[in-house]
Amino acid sequence: MSFSRSETAFNEAKQVLPGGVNSPVRAFRAVGGTPFFADRGEGPYLYDIDGNRYIDYLLSWGPLIWGHAHPAILNAIVEVASKGTSFGVPTELETKMAEKVVSLVPSVEIIRMVNSGTEATMSALRLARAYTKRNAIVKFDGCYHGHSDSLLVKAGSGVATFGLPDSPGVSKATAETTFSVPYNDLDALRELFQERGEEIAAVIIEPVAGNMGCVLPRPGYLQAVRELTRSYGALLICDEVMTGFRVALGGAQAYYGLDPDLTTLGKVIGAGMPVGAYGGKREIMAMVAPEGPVYQAGTLSGNPLAMAAGLKSLEMLEEAETQGLYKTLQQYGGTLCATFQEAGKERGIAVYGHAIGGMFGLFFQEGPVFDYEGAAKSDKDLYARFFHALLRKGVALAPSQLESGFLSAVHTDDQLQHTQQAIREAMAEL
Ligand SMILES: *Cc1c(COP(=O)(O)O)cnc(C)c1O
Repeated sequence: MSFSRSETAFNEAKQVLPGGVNSPVRAFRAVGGTPFFADRGEGPYLYDIDGNRYIDYLLSWGPLIWGHAHPAILNAIVEVASKGTSFGVPTELETKMAEKVVSLVPSVEIIRMVNSGTEATMSALRLARAYTKRNAIVKFDGCYHGHSDSLLVKAGSGVATFGLPDSPGVSKATAETTFSVPYNDLDALRELFQERGEEIAAVIIEPVAGNMGCVLPRPGYLQAVRELTRSYGALLICDEVMTGFRVALGGAQAYYGLDPDLTTLGKVIGAGMPVGAYGGKREIMAMVAPEGPVYQAGTLSGNPLAMAAGLKSLEMLEEAETQGLYKTLQQYGGTLCATFQEAGKERGIAVYGHAIGGMFGLFFQEGPVFDYEGAAKSDKDLYARFFHALLRKGVALAPSQLESGFLSAVHTDDQLQHTQQAIREAMAEL
């Protein structure tokens, strides 16, 4: 397997793009080596510019639940594109897309389209602050909600200490209005509410955490968070940018029976086009401009190509779910995790993995993992070696252990078996 073209391409890219990429984790810093450059995709396969083929479990970091270049989605895009790529006036397609999302996601009554997950969460926070007339936001350690200033923050040691910026350039004043507490730790959250509850506008949570590896909520945890926010008059924002239409057709909120005030969406909703969205209770969303005073806008929001791709993808998911799509995805993910665990056990390597809907997590440690502190105990060097061994066998995972793996509706038993074999061989090489 040669990567020479990718190596050349990466060197060239570094001259004109910071770190050679347009999003940091693409640079392979967590696993070492040179990122491979994509040439094209087809169904479950991704081809790089050296001609290597990979069974893809990265799937553009989640959006591609229909795999690469699905003919029906491409057709929907081409058909719309031939009439123009953007208008800046409303289109009927935007209403159809909104109707579809509202019909599928239980708590969403009305919705605003934006262009990324970051934009969705940023806008939801502004709305929550305006609605509650409070300033503080609570997030959870290791949960990622995009790169807006308020959300690029982790907490100090005590639950009630002021947040510290996670990145230079985020002002101290901004960071100070964001609290971060451990995921799955109800006592920590309760304590924070007891001390600062009157200041808290919203709690934003990944209902299944997917950005510290894949970490499931403990039984009853999400419901308890819901009750706590309600009793203090704070909003609950369910960040389903990753889990929406991926854990279940109605998202993790359908899976767990959760009723948040606001929901943010991204990734799968755009089927590989740049789309995000935030929506929820009508009374709250009525504050969004022009219906209300909370300003939020976008030149390309509700873009027809993006709406066409997203709508087609959601229609296909709805149809596929009548045949039990999400159960099938979870079975595939479960099989991969079981193979990973068996192969690790055989070699005396500590491993832990699990799957939910179309996402899964693989950790090099005993587990179980409930929070970021636990996830961070995983052996990063072993993962890096495992990742590269799999890559050489034609299987692409995320280039970092603290990310989730993704399955598509077009992965079949063929790819699954090849992957299981690759996992066993890669584990033997460790
Ligand atoms: C990916 C992600 C985001 C950010 O979405 P972008 O489209 O990358 O801006 C926000 N929240 C969660 C849970 C995500 O997984």
